[in-house]
Amino acid sequence: MQKNHFNIDWKWQLKHRITTLKSLEKEICLTAKERAVFQENPHFPFAITPYYAHLLKDDAIRKTVLPSLDEEKKRQGESIDPLGEEMHRVTPNLIHTYPDKVLFLITSFCPTYCRYCTRSRMVGTDLVVSDYSESIQYIQQHTEIRDLLISGGDPLIFSNQQLDTLLSSLRAIPHIRTIRIGSKVPAVLPMRIDAELCLILRRHRVWLSLHFIHPKELTEQTKVACQMLADHGVGMLSQTVLLRGVNDSVDVLMDLFYGLLEINVKPYYLLQCDPVFGSAHFRTSVEKGIECIQSLHGRMAGHAIPQYIIDAPGGGGKIPLLSTKQFQRNGDEIVLKNYEGKTYVYPDPLETYL
Ligand SMILES: *Cc1c(COP(=O)(O)O)cnc(C)c1O
Repeated sequence: MQKNHFNIDWKWQLKHRITTLKSLEKEICLTAKERAVFQENPHFPFAITPYYAHLLKDDAIRKTVLPSLDEEKKRQGESIDPLGEEMHRVTPNLIHTYPDKVLFLITSFCPTYCRYCTRSRMVGTDLVVSDYSESIQYIQQHTEIRDLLISGGDPLIFSNQQLDTLLSSLRAIPHIRTIRIGSKVPAVLPMRIDAELCLILRRHRVWLSLHFIHPKELTEQTKVACQMLADHGVGMLSQTVLLRGVNDSVDVLMDLFYGLLEINVKPYYLLQCDPVFGSAHFRTSVEKGIECIQSLHGRMAGHAIPQYIIDAPGGGGKIPLLSTKQFQRNGDEIVLKNYEGKTYVYPDPLETYL
């Protein structure tokens, strides 16, 4: 089986995605507890690429993709739509939260599902819209929009041809200044990155906003993929979710951020984990996040340090944090203000759930 992990045909990888207990057990050894969780039938879809399965020897990474019984527990302040995206949905595929930016969700499919996903309510379901004309029309009519973030699901599962066609129609809209694609493909399916894709991204001046959570994800294949993108002049940022027991340590974060910079990926955001249903076991306290970011500011090259962000529950948008002076604690919640000066509450229990 070992040889399959590294099969370089990305379509083969997607076709042989591991989605069942039976197929997973052919790839890795599970503990009795891990096996029992699958038999409980987790509410959220399970899938990983054979390539990513080889990284599950690492306990930290393993935790982020294998189902756990903790996911079935709903804790205070959790929601299936923590960022209030549904109330900002303006077409079946567009979320318009900020005045001049829009989030374009073009698929609900991902090669690998993260257990802490903010959009677990919709990923793996069938948001199959092949006709984006309503969304494109909305963007055309709303001339205040300058920034487009294409995400999902993972947009890079589309063929080069499909991406080229979509990007061409978006680039034809004169008021659009920047286009980003959010993706975890370089971490979970690095063989997808080919020269033709790089040329398309470069031609349409697309920046990639990549998702990385751990230095062990920076394998040789991932480095080759990012280097190819960089060699073609594609700008890359990375977003990291701060996850308890996975990367909530200054040493792990430093290793990750320096590693990313070495492959031309600029660490952009360190995100406090959103209070999505069943995520309490992944969340660190906000104080812990601040402690990490303050320590990084003293120890790392400035351009290797991302901004630490809380995405305000209920659609208040992203709030950068540097110090505990920026919020008040009110029992098990913290109270903070967004860019408009409006007040938002983030659940941050004094005692962590184990
Ligand atoms: C995060 C996000 C964006 C992009 O925000 P940036 O801070 O520019 O990276 C746009 N729309 C929505 C709804 C978002 O959640």
